[in-house]
Amino acid sequence: MNFLVTGGAGFIGSHVCEALLQRGHAVWALDDLNDFYAPALKQANLRALQALGRDFEFVQGDITDAETLEEVFSFAPFDQVIHLAARAGVRPSLQQPALYLRVNVEGTALLLEAARRHKVRKIIMASSSSVYGINARVPFSESDPIFTPISPYAASKLACEALGHVYHHVYGMDVVMLRFFTVYGPRQRPDLAIHKFARLMRDGQPIPVYGDGSTARDYTYITDTVSGVLACTEKEFGYEIINLGESQTVTLNRLIEVLEQEMGVKAVIDWQPPQAGDVPITYANVEKAQRLLGYAPQVKIEEGIRRFVAWFKTTQG
Ligand code: NAD
Repeated sequence: MNFLVTGGAGFIGSHVCEALLQRGHAVWALDDLNDFYAPALKQANLRALQALGRDFEFVQGDITDAETLEEVFSFAPFDQVIHLAARAGVRPSLQQPALYLRVNVEGTALLLEAARRHKVRKIIMASSSSVYGINARVPFSESDPIFTPISPYAASKLACEALGHVYHHVYGMDVVMLRFFTVYGPRQRPDLAIHKFARLMRDGQPIPVYGDGSTARDYTYITDTVSGVLACTEKEFGYEIINLGESQTVTLNRLIEVLEQEMGVKAVIDWQPPQAGDVPITYANVEKAQRLLGYAPQVKIEEGIRRFVAWFKTTQG
């Protein structure tokens, strides 16, 4: 099949492209290579994809530009679109709310329009656990009410879920919204805690911990996320929202312990007040993913951090 992967040079996108290529699909990756983090890292991801020697094309372009999208959709009849391009990150979204809404919501609307015009039947999109806001009920279930986002980023992803429903309802597109839960592993975004902490620990710098370290996250190893995304490509859903987490929470203090063990370095902690926009806990109920996708997350935090640190030491050690 022909796939268009937006955000294909990024962390999750590059792994999704790789898995699709390894299954023999043709993949076009669209990415603007913006400087939210070092574009050199995205270029390195692209080089790894090109080195596979498979059916891969990279297009540098912006999803908020309708003309670029029109051109991209004329390159091939895409069977499916996997839409991962976004401004990611909760805290930075409080600094630049309009940018987050423009890229994530307007960009998604333009992409859906282009997909509709070009008769693409299916689109799989990245949503986020952050849409749950401060959810009193754990684990988080897709049927929980989600009217309390606490960051512009979360609000933008909520809007994307709603837009996806519109395109399913009005145009009959097959739309799957995947709520990712803190994804980590090789190539992880450098702004995210695990990667940032590893870098600071390597350099003997203090690591900033917001709050008392009791905040908990459902860290999902990248290969589990990718297996969930790929399972979505294999059948029709109508419109579904699906959690993809590990269904196991880890406190920040525990995460630091595991990192210390694998890095072989004792962390120096720079305690900071809790940050606006941060939720106290994320915890996925993955029963729906198990039922609809046969999703069965495999990699526990200790093993995942071991693999992440092995990658980190090889590439940035
Ligand atoms: P990432 O920043 O590594 O990847 C996103 C990619 O999109 C980047 O390469 C970026 O250059 C590209 N992009 C951004 N704006 C663009 C634009 N206007 N036009 C074209 N390309 C653009 O982030 P990631 O962690 O791989 O996240 C992928 C998706 O998953 C995002 O939608 C993110 O919101 C979502 N998500 C990620 C996590 C996580 O833990 N990593 C959790 C929940 C949701």
